[in-house]
This record gives sequence, C-alpha cells and structure tokens, in this order.
Amino acid sequence: MSRFAIDLGSLRQGMTPVELEADALELDLPGDGWAGAIRGAFGVEKTGERVSVRGAVTATARLECVRCLTVFDRPVRAPLDVFAERAGGGRARDEAVLERDSYMRFHDGRQLDLREEAREVLLLELPMVPHCREDCRGLCPKCGADLNTGPCGCPGG
Ligand SMILES: [Zn+2]
Ligand SMILES: [Zn+2]
Repeated sequence: MSRFAIDLGSLRQGMTPVELEADALELDLPGDGWAGAIRGAFGVEKTGERVSVRGAVTATARLECVRCLTVFDRPVRAPLDVFAERAGGGRARDEAVLERDSYMRFHDGRQLDLREEAREVLLLELPMVPHCREDCRGLCPKCGADLNTGPCGCPGG
C-alpha cells in the first residue's frame, strides 16, 4: 500500500481526520523539484461505502528563477477533494467514464490511493514562469552578474 493512501479497512463511519506523508518520488514527482515531504491533511467522511475526502496537500516546491537562475523554495498548498464509491455497484464501463469526467473515484474497500490526485493538484499550483521575487532584477546580459546584489559596472547597466 502506498504511504499516500487512506486505509479504508480501518476507517470508521462518520468523520475521521487523516494525515498522510510521502516524499516526492513516491508521488512520481521529480525528487530535485521538491524539498522535504509532501503532506496531506484531510477530513475523511465515510457514509456506508461512500467516502468523501476534503482537505489540502502541502509541499515545498524547489524552483529556478527564470531571471536570475537562483534556485529557491516556495511553499505550495493545493486544495484536494475526492469522492469515492465502492467499485462494483454499477457497470465497470460507467465507472471508467465517471472517473474520467469527474472527480468521482471507485475504491475496492481496502484503500483509496491519493497519489495521482495529489500530484495533479500540486503541479497545477506551480507557476509557469517562476520568479524568486516579484521585482527580481535578473542577470546582466553582458557580464552575467546577479543584478539583485547591485549594479555590475557594465557601461549603461
Ligand atoms: Zn530571481
Ligand atoms: Zn554587467
């Protein structure tokens, strides 16, 4: 069983707080793109065989500034809600369509693995164009000096 899965076998009816932790590689995320653990904190509500998971995934993304090329860490918090029904209640083909078109998942009564969902929501939170800070001055195009540390002395710079 993955470390980023809810153990349904021992889950009681009603609301249970669940905390999960895994490292980036377990979520199929690049190990050098993330610092430290990926954590999930959820309220898991079980009603019969229906499981609803509401919470968030938190992690620290390791990004490279597009202007000055400095590697910096940025905390990321991504909301994650998943609803799951016990598989086998309907036709398998209908279940596949529901899984594809909505956040509906089907579980086997033993575990609900959230690695894929966690990976997706974390990637959505990453900036397309990372900046170490809003007003990063970048590198001098002539000498390559980091202009955040002061002017480099190039003429006109
Ligand atoms: Zn920068
Ligand atoms: Zn320069």
